[in-house]
Amino acid sequence: MKWIVTCVLIMFFFLGNSQVMNIGILHTHKVKSVQFDYNESSYEIIADGANIGRIEYGGSARITLSNGKLQLKVKDEIIGSYAKIHLNGSGILSITSKSPSVRQRSHQDAFTLTAKSNRITIVNRVSLENYLSGVIESEAGGGRHPEYYKVQALMSRTYALRNRNRHKADGFSLCDGVHCQAYHNRLRFTPEIRTAVKATKGEVLCNQVGKLVATYFSANCGGQVCDASHVWNNSVAHVETFKDTFCIHTKQATWTKKVSQYAWKSFLVNRYGYPVGDSVMNARIYSFESEDRSAFYIHPSLGIPMRDLRFKFGLKSAFFNTRPSGDQVLISGHGFGHGVGLCQEGAMSMGNKGYNYRQIALYYFTGVSIRSYSDL
Ligand SMILES: [Zn+2]
Ligand SMILES: [Zn+2]
Repeated sequence: MKWIVTCVLIMFFFLGNSQVMNIGILHTHKVKSVQFDYNESSYEIIADGANIGRIEYGGSARITLSNGKLQLKVKDEIIGSYAKIHLNGSGILSITSKSPSVRQRSHQDAFTLTAKSNRITIVNRVSLENYLSGVIESEAGGGRHPEYYKVQALMSRTYALRNRNRHKADGFSLCDGVHCQAYHNRLRFTPEIRTAVKATKGEVLCNQVGKLVATYFSANCGGQVCDASHVWNNSVAHVETFKDTFCIHTKQATWTKKVSQYAWKSFLVNRYGYPVGDSVMNARIYSFESEDRSAFYIHPSLGIPMRDLRFKFGLKSAFFNTRPSGDQVLISGHGFGHGVGLCQEGAMSMGNKGYNYRQIALYYFTGVSIRSYSDL
């Protein structure tokens, strides 16, 4: 009887969720000891191919790297040491890295742990739709317009499928950090996200020959979507620069910051040989004004990329003007993030103004269509 129930549950899981993603959890933390707490369902433990039993509601398992193996402890009792441990189930586990200490997070579906290069590799084997719900909550938070959640689901699904081999050498598809897409949460407070993921199930953004598009997005483009070549030196297909009127009155539309003139001048002179010996150029070093996005500070011939100034001085964007203010440089900027592709705050205000997610996607990307991944 028990195995019939298990088979039905497994079939239900795979029929309901055709794609499974392998996401590397806590990858950058080089975890040596991790605890799993089971509060909403039970999980089956398979260690080196053998069924070790189940952990029921309220239980926990601790896995610690010891002599190159995974030492498994359940309820403070050492069960054994193994090369690979699967935690199989389709509920929700709370995961706490004990060494190093990292704030608890929760993820859905199954897990596989292996001892590799003096660390524990933790892979969350999660359905694509559950993964996307976690990504959207991490990337966008709660309380947004449903059409924005839908367009974000379209972007994040396309990104995930297009980049699914990004961490092949590490033994999984994508990591859980901003390097791929932030994936830290699960849906405790925002059922609207799951609704949006379901409503767009299987849909991706692709070009005219059915290839997945590079779906870049950032928080706020500052009123002008950025040319990708300003950020990465190469242009990116289907994202073009244009004036975005939807994000200019939103939360992150403008910002200011002050930097000491000494630090500003030192960086420009030492890194780029800024011509301070030229009296005209010296007088302009703190003054730059441009209505449009510019790839370079003051003049392209000086070879000072705006993006370098952004990273050096921790600015919210590479879209800004400068002017001297006492012994400081007053930097007045627009937007937040690289500004290429979908502008998240612009998309939110389009949703509020009545545009649907398809119209929003086609506003930010050119020469693309929305299709079902299974048809490609
Ligand atoms: Zn990554
Ligand atoms: Zn924008």
